[in-house]
Amino acid sequence: MVVGGGISLFQSYCLNLSGASHVCTSMKSLLLLPRHVSRRTLLGLSSASCASLCLGSLWPSRAEAVSGDPYPLDDLSRTIPARGRIACPKVELVRYRGDAVPYAQTALIYTELKPRLQAMERIIAAAAKATYGRAPKRLIHLGTYNCRRIAAYPTWLSEHGLGNAIDVSGFDFGSHKRGEPLPDDLPPSLRRPFSVRVKRHWNPGRSAEQKLHASFLRQIIRELLSRRRIFRVLLGPGYPGHHDHFHFDCAPFRMVEGFDGL
Ligand SMILES: [Zn+2]
Repeated sequence: MVVGGGISLFQSYCLNLSGASHVCTSMKSLLLLPRHVSRRTLLGLSSASCASLCLGSLWPSRAEAVSGDPYPLDDLSRTIPARGRIACPKVELVRYRGDAVPYAQTALIYTELKPRLQAMERIIAAAAKATYGRAPKRLIHLGTYNCRRIAAYPTWLSEHGLGNAIDVSGFDFGSHKRGEPLPDDLPPSLRRPFSVRVKRHWNPGRSAEQKLHASFLRQIIRELLSRRRIFRVLLGPGYPGHHDHFHFDCAPFRMVEGFDGL
């Protein structure tokens, strides 16, 4: 037994999280546990609570275990050295430019993320048609694949390092076309091209246009939150470092933060 190795051993089980029962089976056999978790406490927990506790010891936010929605990267370890260059695991990546909503920049993504992005786009297009009478001409994103750590958790690989995440910063709209249904209350200025950005429009401003943009962005998030099998981690403008974008990914746990007032 390595004295002082309890936390890292515990963390490695947490980081290899693939299912609550697996994690708890492994964790219950541990003799060394973080100071705030007694072995007796752990043994009495349900699998789901156990996994949540496990994740909660690493993340200050409210991370929950996921169930009933297997994803091919669930078993992949996200553990990395705290310092130095990292080698991201090799996963199958594809270039993707959007389907129901085209992307302004080609996205390099993990292949199994594609159907989830397509589901997101259908939600965005539907919300945009209801709000503005047309789908966005372009989705603007700040990045997908990027082999890096999570800054605040240097021993944890970012889901961007697997191409398993997207940062959406906004949408560009073209002119309203004749024949497209026009919502009754659409301000005339929004019949012309315009942009919606998370940074400027998440919080409703005073004008009718600003209020509509905030309502559109919030409708997208509400829909995504109600469809739990699209994304598992959703971070909004209220989360540190995310004032100008939404972060969506398919990490092996669920976490929703930064959408205050939704
Ligand atoms: Zn991100």
